[in-house]
Amino acid sequence: MYTKQDIIEMLNSQSTDMDRLFEKGVEVRNSAIGDGVYLRGLIEYSNICSKDCLYCGIRHSNRSVERYALSEQEVLDAAEFAYKSNYGSVVLQCGEVKSEKHIRKIEYLVKEIKKLSNDNLGITLSMGEQTLDSYKRWFDAGAHRYLLRIESSNIDLYNKIHPNNKQHSYDDRIVALENLRIAGFQVGSGVMIGLPYQTIEDLADDLLWMKRMDIDMCGMGPYLISEGAPLGAETANILQSEQWRFEMSLKMIATLRIIMPKINIAASTALQAINPMGRIKAIECGANIIMPNISPDNIRANYNLYNNKPRSFDSKIIEDRVHYGEWGDSSHFKSKKNNLV
Ligand code: SF4
Repeated sequence: MYTKQDIIEMLNSQSTDMDRLFEKGVEVRNSAIGDGVYLRGLIEYSNICSKDCLYCGIRHSNRSVERYALSEQEVLDAAEFAYKSNYGSVVLQCGEVKSEKHIRKIEYLVKEIKKLSNDNLGITLSMGEQTLDSYKRWFDAGAHRYLLRIESSNIDLYNKIHPNNKQHSYDDRIVALENLRIAGFQVGSGVMIGLPYQTIEDLADDLLWMKRMDIDMCGMGPYLISEGAPLGAETANILQSEQWRFEMSLKMIATLRIIMPKINIAASTALQAINPMGRIKAIECGANIIMPNISPDNIRANYNLYNNKPRSFDSKIIEDRVHYGEWGDSSHFKSKKNNLV
């Protein structure tokens, strides 16, 4: 059992201690779930969002973003590409929209992706807070994993990076995470690392929060400033350096792996935006999931959650460890189902 102080020490490690932390992250992963890497083809379905998170480039109030939603055929073509490339899984991602038309569209797309892949593609959704009924409909349609980041588990910090209104409620986010579990999903969450006002204690608490919430998957990465997001413009002068945020993200990954050995941990795209080897480095600290972007080229520029978002993935370095054609579900989730944890 690791205490908050143990975790703070890990996050504060430098030079050889930091290297040892990364090695331990890999050791723990390899002995708990092996050294395999699983792919999820990321399809950015739409950048339309009803919310206004202060750090986000595609927030509702950012009028300089050209809004899009892929056609059904474009989504299915991308999914077919993932299927034929033997990726094993896709992630369908978009902003938060709660209309019945949207819920129905996603339900339809999930069913069609299952159909075109003869049930072989695993489907992860990342579409924000929805009602339990909507989550159930999407789960029944065939999706089985869902990512919903808490961004910061510190309620004060959460409130600083979101507008102060009912639409952006910390408590609602927690309820949504609980509802995902009730609907049957493998539940993923995560945080931004190096946010303005964030302390090492906050980050240690984030990791302990993930453990307490018993998450099955994690996607977390460095905070990056987004074009058109108020948080970037207001706080650029108090941010830690990009290098600090990058290194801290790797330390968070290794530490999370140590305290939650069997969960899935994504090597986030945001790491790659700082360092071209970012995702590979994350794998070398304990991550086991990579999400190559397979959205049609012409829309990617408009899905600008943050600046310098990478567009490609070079898997050659870890090629021999990629488990093609497998879902790579969370071993943590499977163990829970079998009452092993
Ligand atoms: S972070 Fe997600 S919910 Fe918030 S504004 Fe951006 S896309 Fe919308």
